[in-house]
Amino acid sequence: MPQLRSDYISKSISLIPEDTKNIPDDDRDVCKFCAGNESRTPAAELVLVDKYGGIVKTSDTEEERSSQWVARVFKSPRPIIYDDPEAGYSDEPLLAEPAHGSHYVVVTSPKHDDAFHSASVSQIANGLIATQEQMKTLYQGKGIAYVAAYSNYTEGKGSISHPHMELLSLSRVPPVIESEMRVTDMVFDELGICPICRMIGVETGGPRQIITTDSYIAMVPWAPKKDAEFLILPKKHQRSFLKLTQNQLKELAMIIRCSLGGFSKEIGKAYTIAFHMAPERKQQSQFHWHIEVSSFEQSYGALTTGFGVYTISRPPERIAEQLGKAARREMANVMGVK
Ligand SMILES: [Zn+2]
Ligand SMILES: [Zn+2]
Ligand SMILES: [Zn+2]
Repeated sequence: MPQLRSDYISKSISLIPEDTKNIPDDDRDVCKFCAGNESRTPAAELVLVDKYGGIVKTSDTEEERSSQWVARVFKSPRPIIYDDPEAGYSDEPLLAEPAHGSHYVVVTSPKHDDAFHSASVSQIANGLIATQEQMKTLYQGKGIAYVAAYSNYTEGKGSISHPHMELLSLSRVPPVIESEMRVTDMVFDELGICPICRMIGVETGGPRQIITTDSYIAMVPWAPKKDAEFLILPKKHQRSFLKLTQNQLKELAMIIRCSLGGFSKEIGKAYTIAFHMAPERKQQSQFHWHIEVSSFEQSYGALTTGFGVYTISRPPERIAEQLGKAARREMANVMGVK
């Protein structure tokens, strides 16, 4: 079974796979996630169907797969973690624990080309509803400390290029979330305001803003880690994406669609999306949930991998200006304004 190992000195965490032979990659050219290929994936535990003018939840059985779906959720056919009750822990200095949890795929549209940068806003919202619903289910799991929601997108024909989110339920809170939570609570104790609320106050209408809606802002960070990286933040202090109503999810879908639409035209159609939110069980933290988007293509050099100092080639203000123009064009198109 896969293991979570902790490094001797940096204490960074690595997910070590099981030592098995590689499963043949038979879906490089054929997409198992497209409508019509439901029988080629595990049975979906959650299926959203657009019926009677609303979204209805159902599920597949082993014998019968639902059709006419708008989003479906099943166990990953290539899980990077899974549960094994036999697995044990190991102690210092070879610190390891079994990577308890599960790995799910949320297919966010029946259509292969409905990516987050190109789908309709309502289709993206359907994908977000399914994501939120499955995250709530995964948090019910025994010993689950965190559910990580993310997406890696690159264009292509295989399943990997079909619009989807991945959900990993984990027995520990990932280090980046731990550290953002620690800093948030430290700043809150000191200043009485969360750092993201503070940042929104400074950045709204400023040179790093890309686009805003009533409740969200997309912006390039003051100190980016990559050339092409941006954040989507709820303007009001909110701990978790799991509490959003369907209307709020629709507005979130709108800003995702327009900011990524601009990004895909200016930077490229290869990006990663990570949802950062407070662990459900740490209710006392002041964490302000947000989405981090970055280019999938840029790799890091020695200064970054060896010393942890990030270098980028253009000031974030120039990138925000470029992405802002493109995102506003996308929004005009999406809203039917010429
Ligand atoms: Zn597909
Ligand atoms: Zn806040
Ligand atoms: Zn974050």
